[in-house]
Amino acid sequence: MIGVFGGTFDPIHFGHLRPALEILQDLSLDEIRFVPLNTAVHRAQPVATARQRLAMVQAAVADQPGFVVDARELRRAGGSYSYDTLASLRLELGPQLPICLLTGLDAFAELPTWHRWEEIAGMAHLVVMRRPGADEATGPKLRRWLEPRLAADPAALARSPGGLILLRDVTQLDISATAIRSRIAQALSPRFLLPTSVLAFIEREGLYRS
Ligand code: ATP
Repeated sequence: MIGVFGGTFDPIHFGHLRPALEILQDLSLDEIRFVPLNTAVHRAQPVATARQRLAMVQAAVADQPGFVVDARELRRAGGSYSYDTLASLRLELGPQLPICLLTGLDAFAELPTWHRWEEIAGMAHLVVMRRPGADEATGPKLRRWLEPRLAADPAALARSPGGLILLRDVTQLDISATAIRSRIAQALSPRFLLPTSVLAFIEREGLYRS
């Protein structure tokens, strides 16, 4: 069973990495693939280039066994749709391997706006990580839809390729890429919010300065 964690990663930070490690270990995943998206569909475009965001994700996961980078969205022109990513992963991995799509609760609350979202939820399990400030984010319609799909425990996920939703409590780290970019723009240090290797890259490239 593998995990797939998509994001802008502009930049990647401990609010991504620590919850992902907990999911890797608690669900006994073989690996988590970090998939930097190319062109955002639901939000403002990233500040750092695709090359820079890929380099930061590579630096962040380099010394963590089980964390890998998957650059498939960066190789595909145009908007990054989770549906396309999953379809291409399914072609590569076959129809039977359980795939867990990791999302923060804030991103999950937007699920009904995602392109072909119900098919996405059939192609993979959704593992939703609670995120500070996002607790009341899901509306009544989404809650009604998810209730019959809720997995009672992580072991259930390994028994089917997709279709279940698992809500997970992870260490709550109130860190966002927006806040990191904003501190750097104000000439304040974002140290201890993200890996040293990522910060070194940001400084070398002069990223996010105003
Ligand atoms: P930005 O501030 O630029 O919007 P972000 O910090 O939210 O960025 P993204 O790359 O947009 O980071 O997030 C990718 C995924 O990681 C999303 O599913 C998001 O919900 C989740 N995520 C980001 N930060 C956290 C966090 N601190 N705790 C839990 N999940 C998070």
